[in-house]
Amino acid sequence: MKFYPFITLSLQTVVAFSALAGSALSLVWLEGRQAAAPLPSQRMWNEGAPLVVVDAGHGGHDGGAVANGVIEKNMSLDIAKRVTKELEAAGVRVVMTRSGDRFLSLDERAALAGTHGAAAFVSVHLNTEGAGSEAEGIETYFAESQPLSARQRMPAGATQGQGAGGSAEFAGTVQRLVCGATKAVDRGIKARDYAVVARAVCPAVLVECGFITNERESARLKEAGYRDRVAEGIARGVVLFLQTQQGKGPVIAAVVK
Ligand SMILES: [Zn+2]
Repeated sequence: MKFYPFITLSLQTVVAFSALAGSALSLVWLEGRQAAAPLPSQRMWNEGAPLVVVDAGHGGHDGGAVANGVIEKNMSLDIAKRVTKELEAAGVRVVMTRSGDRFLSLDERAALAGTHGAAAFVSVHLNTEGAGSEAEGIETYFAESQPLSARQRMPAGATQGQGAGGSAEFAGTVQRLVCGATKAVDRGIKARDYAVVARAVCPAVLVECGFITNERESARLKEAGYRDRVAEGIARGVVLFLQTQQGKGPVIAAVVK
C-alpha cells in the first residue's frame, strides 16, 4: 500500500481546490482548518500560550477609506497578516477575523475574542481626513466601556476611567512601540467606544496605522518595509502587554476562575 499516502494527499488537494473554487462557506471551513493547524516551533510561550485576535478592518463590500491609490481593506489585511506573522514567531497563538477579502460585521469580529478565549484583541485600520489634509501619524483607540466580563479582568487597584479590562494600558503600550518602530508622528491614545473594541471581552485596541489621505504617509505605507515596521511595532506592543499581564497573573487568574 505504498501509494496510499499519495492518494490521501491527492484527495486533500482535491478537497482544498474544490473549497477554494466553491462558496464562502468552504472558505470559512478552510479558515477553521488553518486556525487549528500546528503552531510554529519557535515560541516564547509553551503550554498555555496566550491567544490574540488580529482584526483586519473592513473587507468584502466594505472597502473602508480610499485615498492616494490605497484601499483601506487591502492594506489593513496586509498589515494584519504581518502582525500575525510576528506574533506567531513570538509563540503567540493568533486567530485572524479574516484572512481574505471577506465582510464580517463588527459584532462577529468582536465575538471571536469570546469564542477563542482571547487574551487580547487588536484591530488594524488606516486613517483619513479631508482630501488635501496634512494630518498624519499613528493613533490607538480603546473603549472605556466594555462588557462586564472584560471589566472584571481589570487588575486590582486599576483606576476607573482608565479603560476597561486593561485596554488603556494596552493601547499605551502598542502606541509607544509602534511609534518607536516607525518614527511616525505620535498622535497618542484615545478613548472612544468603537463597537469592535467595546464589545470584545478582553483588552482590545484599534490601531489607526497612518493617514492614507496624507501624501507622504501614504507613500511610506505603500512600502512593504515600512508596513513591516508598523507590524513589528504592533506585535511587540501586544507581546509586551501580554507579558505585563502575566506578571499580574494571580489577580487575573483569581478573577477568571
Ligand atoms: Zn477603518
